[in-house]
Amino acid sequence: MLKGIAASSGVAIAKVYKLEQPVVEIVKKEANPVVEVQRFNDALEKTKSDITRIKEIAAQRLSEEELAVFDAHLMMASDPDLASQIVGMIENDKVNADYATDTVATSMIAIFESMDNDYMRERAADIKDVTFRLKCNLLGLMIPDLSLINEDSVVVAYDLTPSDTAQLNTFAKGFATAIGGRTSHSAIMARSLEIPAVVGCAGILEAAKHGDTVILDALEGEVILNPDDALIQKYEAKAKAYVEEKEALKVLKTAKSISTDGHQVELAGNIGGVKDVEGVLNNGGEGVGLFRTEFLYMNADHFPTEDEQFEAYKEVLTNMGGRKVVVRTLDIGGDKKLSYFQFPEEMNPFLGYRAIRLCLDRTDIFRTQLRALIRASVFGKLCIMFPMIATVKEFRDAKAIFNEEKANLIKEGVKVADNIEVGMMVEIPAAAVNADNFAKEADFFSIGTNDLIQYTMAADRMSEHVSYLYQPYNPSILRLVKATIDGAHKEGKWAGMCGEMAGEPYAVPLLLGLGLDEFSMSATSILKARKMVTSLNKADCAKLAEEAIQLSTAEEVLALVKSKVDK
Ligand code: PEP
Ligand code: MG
Repeated sequence: MLKGIAASSGVAIAKVYKLEQPVVEIVKKEANPVVEVQRFNDALEKTKSDITRIKEIAAQRLSEEELAVFDAHLMMASDPDLASQIVGMIENDKVNADYATDTVATSMIAIFESMDNDYMRERAADIKDVTFRLKCNLLGLMIPDLSLINEDSVVVAYDLTPSDTAQLNTFAKGFATAIGGRTSHSAIMARSLEIPAVVGCAGILEAAKHGDTVILDALEGEVILNPDDALIQKYEAKAKAYVEEKEALKVLKTAKSISTDGHQVELAGNIGGVKDVEGVLNNGGEGVGLFRTEFLYMNADHFPTEDEQFEAYKEVLTNMGGRKVVVRTLDIGGDKKLSYFQFPEEMNPFLGYRAIRLCLDRTDIFRTQLRALIRASVFGKLCIMFPMIATVKEFRDAKAIFNEEKANLIKEGVKVADNIEVGMMVEIPAAAVNADNFAKEADFFSIGTNDLIQYTMAADRMSEHVSYLYQPYNPSILRLVKATIDGAHKEGKWAGMCGEMAGEPYAVPLLLGLGLDEFSMSATSILKARKMVTSLNKADCAKLAEEAIQLSTAEEVLALVKSKVDK
């Protein structure tokens, strides 16, 4: 049994599907050109048919646009220049096909990477992908492919990127990763897909073999390999009980989120794309409190155009039927990279060139997104917020660009809503401490506790080694949350929270007590939070929060909350 961090609740029992890239070792050999050219041609044909098959399977889920990457790869695999260079080298130098492929690929990649044209530079990634598959086929190595999973499986990986999680089909019953914490992006994706996940499970890659039977207990954060029948039965019962408990909460789907003394709050859902709206509505979400738009960028092979973005925002706003939708502008950088954009090399990318810092530097990217958003504003109730704001000047600069683009669109004769709210995330301690000043300029706050805790505790949210410092109940965090909410209320503005803390059952009484107006969380947490809110008395919670803030440690706070709530 291996211990990890429970990142998305549920229990799964299935076979291990190991997502591990094969190690390609190229050795130069003298070889018969006739044999090698034949090997190369066979591997090339297999590469083309692999890509075609993956595209066919992906076509069931992806749009034409998203499928374009496969066409680019097919075109690359059919490129006569690539083939003739490799065949030429095999024939002239009398070397093995794998060595020739590797040599030609390396030099082609280097040429494309050095071009000063974005489009050409992006092609380097395509060549890398296609020639990697070609080399694996030459060496008889299997490339795991999540979209091809066709039996109930638990995916075991070092980490899962957003494009990995996008490929998961219904046979993927859950996943376990070696790295990550509760707020790493693979964990967030698991919650929006509503599949169990255990992350930060050190040793899992060494211990699990492809095809092993595995129990994934994502309620406790445990992974059990090759269990006996008795253990399987025990966990089947646990899985069933969990599903029944989830079902029972459904009665609260249309209930209002009102405390026993009549105080109403809003319980909203976090989404990463258009498809997630359904989960929010199915779980009784009263709005979208965070649309992480970076997924639109990460799931593409180019910066999404204004029209592409407009369609996505329009669909979300329309599907939410007039309920509030808070869209966060591009929050890229840190652990969120783009295949088609070169980030500067930095020692600490989480403290570096990212989010609003990048957007205020690359205003072309920022303006495109703002225009798409403003154009979509007439289809619902839109709130826009900027991520990673540290200074009032950053907020002013971002808002000024928003105002310019709004004025430009109006001049162009485009209809725009007159009730767009422009707010900011509070996820840097500097912003929380200075919240009353920010509140004079921002229409609302949304507290991003995933980052706020990471920056307050100086503890990398991706590192399982310091995950003990992810302490939402630490009085230091509660004080920053309080300063933010009080700052907003002083200026008559509303304060929400879209970090994972908002959905933690024991945090709900504290946040309600501190006066939080909107709680936004993974869709699967909404009904549990509603059960909490509707059973709590706001005035009592205010006293509880006041008491909690005077304590010294997270453990004391949690014990206090439990003593009141679990009575
Ligand atoms: C946060 O930091 O709390 C947040 C909601 O944003 P993200 O998790 O996307 O960084
Ligand atoms: Mg954040």
